[in-house]
Amino acid sequence: MVLVNANYLKLQAGYLFPEIARRVKAFGIANPGASLIRLGIGDVTEPLPQACRSAMKAAIDEMGTLEGFHGYGPEQGYSWLREAIAKNDYQLRGCDISAEEIFVSDGSKCDSSNILDILGDQNRIAVTDPVYPVYVDSNVMKGNTGQVLDSGRYQGLFYIPITVENNFEARIPDHPVDIIYLCFPNNPTGAVASKKQLGLWVDYALKNNSLILFDAAYEAFIQDNNLPHSIYEVDGARECAIEFRSFSKNAGFTGTRCAFTVVPKELKGKSTLESKEDVSLWELWSRRQSTKFNGVSYIVQRGAEAVYSSAGQAQVKALTSFYMENASIIRKELAMAGLKVYGGENAPYVWIKTPDDIDSWDFFDYLLNQANIVGTPGSGFGASGEGYFRLSAFNSRNNVEDAMSRIKAL
Ligand SMILES: *Cc1c(COP(=O)(O)O)cnc(C)c1O
Repeated sequence: MVLVNANYLKLQAGYLFPEIARRVKAFGIANPGASLIRLGIGDVTEPLPQACRSAMKAAIDEMGTLEGFHGYGPEQGYSWLREAIAKNDYQLRGCDISAEEIFVSDGSKCDSSNILDILGDQNRIAVTDPVYPVYVDSNVMKGNTGQVLDSGRYQGLFYIPITVENNFEARIPDHPVDIIYLCFPNNPTGAVASKKQLGLWVDYALKNNSLILFDAAYEAFIQDNNLPHSIYEVDGARECAIEFRSFSKNAGFTGTRCAFTVVPKELKGKSTLESKEDVSLWELWSRRQSTKFNGVSYIVQRGAEAVYSSAGQAQVKALTSFYMENASIIRKELAMAGLKVYGGENAPYVWIKTPDDIDSWDFFDYLLNQANIVGTPGSGFGASGEGYFRLSAFNSRNNVEDAMSRIKAL
């Protein structure tokens, strides 16, 4: 008899993106001539930066020589990439992070899920609502939750609403939690966290011995110079936070695959509630990666390294600026069409209040049928996302402008 991981059976049947795909497919069959504009899934559209392509081509040629061939690399990533990351993303911003604390991987989606491997099953876990679904579903799969409730929330998880009523701020919970997932700039709301707000979370985590899992996948889209790009810009974060970063959104690596996770050496946990002894999370993550992961390809790591060259930095800046101009067009046009819009100023997502409080999925169907535009219903990201709708700025200028004139014509 084969037994399956029964936790998977607790997952909600209609996962967001398959349900969107199902509705779009049905619409396409009923309306064969319609030209759809997809502003739904958060995937980039613009070509890879030249600097990254050149570096990867050179790396392929190296691999074709006896001297330049590379087999398995270090599981944690090549030291030249870890050093470039530590220096450019952290030390130059005044964050005390060393190359040894950077773990290169093939994605932050997997890292933010795999991190649960080194964490116990008795932790009280908090997520924001709405939220990047990966954090919740990974906890369900691991058995860290009970059953799903009618609201779509899971028993055993602590939800922190981020809505217009609280200015999209993740407020400190009134009872202790052990693990908190935070993502800023936020997917899906496009909201940001100030250094002061992150400071409140760091103080909370230090006081309660909790761990913050900070997802900074969208830091490159920050336009406001006063906003923190990393949680390590806050004093004390080395003792309470792991940070996830990715080359997916800034450098267009969604299909190329490279990311990294920062695990400071100060981070500690305990093996049991009674245990007096501290266990190093850095040691455990290092061990986990060495056992279950064989590294990112040499070629791709060379491509990621090129992001930090001066040409690479300029090209990445141009890419993020391009998407942020899209976001600004979306914000402006939708506001002119009378919609309430949030986000999109320091993040590539615009979060829209549905008109007349109509249901998120009804608004999805309305835009699909009337304007042939695909967006993402807010309720797919959590119960508190009901009544909201996400449009992504990842698209060509033409498509964005077309989509906006279609909405204005409604
Ligand atoms: C896109 C995204 C990532 C990046 O995931 P990769 O696996 O590195 O492509 C991480 N977190 C959030 C919230 C995202 O939206």
